[in-house]
Amino acid sequence: MQERLPAPEFESPTGSVFPPPAGRRVYCNRNMRLDQVKAVGFDMDYTLAIYRQDEMDRQSIEATVRKLVERGYPEELLTMKYRTDFPIRGLLIDRKRGNVLKMDRYRYVKRAYHGFRKLTREERRSAYHTRRLRPGTGRYHWVDTLYGLSEVAVYAAVVDHMETHGGSVDYGRLFTDIRESADLSHQDGSILDSVLADLPRYVERDPELGVLLHKLRSAGKRLFLLTNSGPEYTDAMMSYLVGDSLGEYPSWRNYFDYVVTASKKPSFFMGKAPFIDVESGIETRQAERGRIYSGGNFSDFQRSLGYAGDEVLYVGDHIYGDVLRAKKESTWRTAMIIQEMDDELRVLREHALSFERSASLEQTHAAVQDQLREQQARLKRVERKLGDPEIAEKASWEAKRVLHRRSIDRLRSQLRELDAERLELDDALDRAFHPFWGSVFKAGSEVSSFGNQVEQYACIYTSRASNLAQYSPMHYFESPRHRMPHET
Ligand SMILES: [Mg+2]
Repeated sequence: MQERLPAPEFESPTGSVFPPPAGRRVYCNRNMRLDQVKAVGFDMDYTLAIYRQDEMDRQSIEATVRKLVERGYPEELLTMKYRTDFPIRGLLIDRKRGNVLKMDRYRYVKRAYHGFRKLTREERRSAYHTRRLRPGTGRYHWVDTLYGLSEVAVYAAVVDHMETHGGSVDYGRLFTDIRESADLSHQDGSILDSVLADLPRYVERDPELGVLLHKLRSAGKRLFLLTNSGPEYTDAMMSYLVGDSLGEYPSWRNYFDYVVTASKKPSFFMGKAPFIDVESGIETRQAERGRIYSGGNFSDFQRSLGYAGDEVLYVGDHIYGDVLRAKKESTWRTAMIIQEMDDELRVLREHALSFERSASLEQTHAAVQDQLREQQARLKRVERKLGDPEIAEKASWEAKRVLHRRSIDRLRSQLRELDAERLELDDALDRAFHPFWGSVFKAGSEVSSFGNQVEQYACIYTSRASNLAQYSPMHYFESPRHRMPHET
């Protein structure tokens, strides 16, 4: 046997250790050489601007419910309780049955709630497992932004409330009303004005953001901001985030070569809309450095940038609008910001022993199961023998039958014990991740449909943008997936 050597240590000239601690790490799905990236683009909301989720949820729920009541929903919706801890990203709303679902990567519904009541296995089976589920159709709504969480909180609460008070609910109508009310609250300023009026309450300011942007610029990379927020909101938010963080940059605008606001992603990636210079109002096909635009489209922007698609890295938080569309319509490399990772990594760390125990229970279970099948096959052979009227040494065959039966009973009871312990352990781990849904990235022992999209479309992912500053701007991000199952 070879002796284990201690892991080689490396301390960079800036004093940061490598690799960074789990919470600051950037995780890699597809290899990416940062030295070959010539331009780095950032989305703003939930990417550079980390919103405090509970404050945002409270704010959006209030604004949405006020609009629902204006549409004729009962007044008591204004005073009832909403559970902001109910929704997570990656859920699917079933508008037909009024349920909220979580699927694994094979679109198998692993968990479902109606209001706050968990559906039984039988209910799930009859509703979703006998026919192929089509999440892309109008019946379903996929919740893949942190904005969307408050809509789920309202939907479940209103379904629950109206049905426990004897009312009947048009589930489809209700969801449409909630969506429209939430959209309206964003458009008419009900939400944005409150955020701007008290930025420190709603937005966490990351002191390392300026450091990251400066580090990338110093390595010769062009930077751009590409956001769906309007120019005024963007200006206020960016000034708050990095306006005065480093002396060399008197304004946030000095960090970015190009700024595109109100970009209407995802249609930005497919559309043909011109850029509109925010100061002069002039339409153009060519984005110039140092100007602020609204609108625009991907192909004109790509040409203005002057780099090949795979020399551009785009950092965003929204699977569909930022990451999936960028991957499908372009060859941009993608980085996804997933705020939920802080909690996920904490649970993995704090419960490391339970995860190990669960894995070893699973292995033992498989081994016992194999034993059981062997014993059952032997018993069958013995019973066939005993069925033969001409059989010799009948007594000895009878004795064998008794022995096999005994070991089958013993193995079965061992399996029951293993199952019970594992079930209890996995339930506790699920609750540690999230009281209703378990881990964002997993569904049972499978990868969740959200986790699957992250794997497919995000080249790299991390909990916040500034984690990129932990790495050299020449870093080679390497995916662990160049290993085959037998190598790990
Ligand atoms: Mg965003």
